[in-house]
Amino acid sequence: MMKLIFLGPPGAGKGTQAAIVSKKLGIPSVSTGDMLRAAVKEGTKVGLEAKSFMDAGKLVPDEVIIGIVHERLDKPDCAKGFILDGVPRTLAQADALEKAGIAFDHVISLEVHDEAIVERMSGRRVCNKCGAPFHVANNPPKVEGVCDACGGELIQRVDDKAETVRHRLEVYHQETEPLKSFYQERGVLDLVPGDLGTIEETTAAIMKVLEA
Ligand code: AMP
Repeated sequence: MMKLIFLGPPGAGKGTQAAIVSKKLGIPSVSTGDMLRAAVKEGTKVGLEAKSFMDAGKLVPDEVIIGIVHERLDKPDCAKGFILDGVPRTLAQADALEKAGIAFDHVISLEVHDEAIVERMSGRRVCNKCGAPFHVANNPPKVEGVCDACGGELIQRVDDKAETVRHRLEVYHQETEPLKSFYQERGVLDLVPGDLGTIEETTAAIMKVLEA
């Protein structure tokens, strides 16, 4: 039973690595960003509540996030472990998980410098249907503009515009980065460089941490 968190700035590769590692370990990857985007598309109450925050690159209120995460983790497929991708993002969210009795085996912080992030995000594309992430140069789809996984259309996220990315980076440093010391104090933090090698090399570095 492996419970993991993938931490890191927007565009660090959390979603890409979570999808790969989730397959390798046979545990689901739980992405609040994907869940919120699906809710926005479906026009649910959560979606309506979240949309303006997301478009502006701001964090969605903690109570909304804590609610959807608990609901998701109660599903049977999470019983044998899970990877949290993009959550927790605030100390309040980390506290809520801890109060719910969830102890993490590893918190992997993917370390990527701010300058690299802004550049990376301009090439990022996501599937409009299943949310799978691609990059025009680093992780291109087999057919341009088409998702390898489901055949959906690849689009650029509205919140991946350069100025919104800069704001999301500020939010990361202010609200999310303090989680590194929170989990370091609990002895579960591992830093993994996220911009040194290929996607496969980063996966290998993560697996080394998990198998150690
Ligand atoms: P992501 O796909 O993880 O980059 O998330 C996209 C957007 O969804 C973020 O910029 C936030 O507006 C919102 N979001 C996703 N996860 C969280 C979270 N754990 N806490 C607050 N807002 C979140």
